[in-house]
Amino acid sequence: MKYLGIPISNKHLNTSAFSFLPQKLYKRLDPWKGKHLTSGGRQILSNTCLSSIPLYCMGFYWLQDGVHKKMDSIKANFLWQGTEDKFRYHMAKWEMVSRPKDQGDLGIINTRLMNDCLLVKWIWKILQEPDELWFKLLKTKYMRGTNFFSAKSKGESQFWQGLQKVKHLFKWGATLTIGRGNNCFFWHDCWLHEVPLKIYYEDLYRMVSHPDRVVWDCWVDQDWVVQFRRALSSEEFQRWTLLYDELQHFSIDETIPDRVSWALEKTKMFTTKSLYIFLSNRGIPSRVAGLIWKCKIPLKIKFFLWQTFNNKLPVGLSLLKRGWKGDGKCCLCGVLETINHILFDCVLAKLIWSIIREVLCLGDVPHSLQELTEGWLWGKGLLSMRVLMFLFAGFAWTLWVTRNKMAIEKHFPNTPSDVLFDALRDGRYS
Ligand SMILES: [Zn+2]
Repeated sequence: MKYLGIPISNKHLNTSAFSFLPQKLYKRLDPWKGKHLTSGGRQILSNTCLSSIPLYCMGFYWLQDGVHKKMDSIKANFLWQGTEDKFRYHMAKWEMVSRPKDQGDLGIINTRLMNDCLLVKWIWKILQEPDELWFKLLKTKYMRGTNFFSAKSKGESQFWQGLQKVKHLFKWGATLTIGRGNNCFFWHDCWLHEVPLKIYYEDLYRMVSHPDRVVWDCWVDQDWVVQFRRALSSEEFQRWTLLYDELQHFSIDETIPDRVSWALEKTKMFTTKSLYIFLSNRGIPSRVAGLIWKCKIPLKIKFFLWQTFNNKLPVGLSLLKRGWKGDGKCCLCGVLETINHILFDCVLAKLIWSIIREVLCLGDVPHSLQELTEGWLWGKGLLSMRVLMFLFAGFAWTLWVTRNKMAIEKHFPNTPSDVLFDALRDGRYS
């Protein structure tokens, strides 16, 4: 049955129990009529609307990968082809599309990652030990005589199982301040150093009799006691003395509970956003990407530039690689069509670039995307990077639109200067 919008059952909820989520996404697409939306519009709707539909349910359950995959494929279809039935190639993998914008990608919400982060919020709540009924219930049922992290993951509650699945993520942002020491593992948690003692003193950890003790257990009669499985060698004893000396600076205060704070936020309080950003920001920020997303141009042209710089435009060569049956040649020059060909090497592109060079007194113009990103974009006398990116965006978009008119609609411009006037006219940006 469903209770307050989420499925509950006394049995394990499998993928089919959550199939209502992809269906909801699918239904939502219908009235939008994706064919009237630009790529930029589809990108926004995908993020603001489609990705937010499952959020509520994801705050309670750890959804199976199969459910996420189904939702991803609906979002991917919508992003690349709208709601039209006509097949369009997906030019980039979904993992790439959902990487953050500052790393050069589209930043569409990764629901798998978001699902994990939303559940980690419960761990934060549990460790704040509220007096609320839900917490008392969990405590009596699953944490009898132990804390959250050492509790067994087994149990009928799917909610509880979900929390256990994401508990390793909590350690990325949590820092412990020891009071009583009963909620902190002596060897497994970060409390004395920024890494757990089992890593810092790996040699000693291999010999301890009770590796799962909490800090409180090792504080006996105002002294630190750790038991080892055998007598220590003189070298090992020196290592233990080192640890023992460090522990002397530390004392247990039975009146204060252990406190957890969140290192990824200035307020030291947990936020889902901070964890999501931390977990998805594992790449290197891209300089070109920063420039694209900040440029004052319509979103559909930003999307086009993202495709251009990542080699994801549906040009002849890329389509042939995906099994397309056409010849993949430029309709003006008859050579194999690549992004560099359309934007730099084609007769039309060469003409446009030479006019740009003369009119703007640029001295030199780039001959490939590589030259553009490795030198040309980063400053030309009085023209700043943003202006250069803006110029490139305009001319590249015009060349692309002209190419599509020629290749798909078989509509050729009367003279090459028509293309230039199109580029200069505001109408091209609309
Ligand atoms: Zn050509």
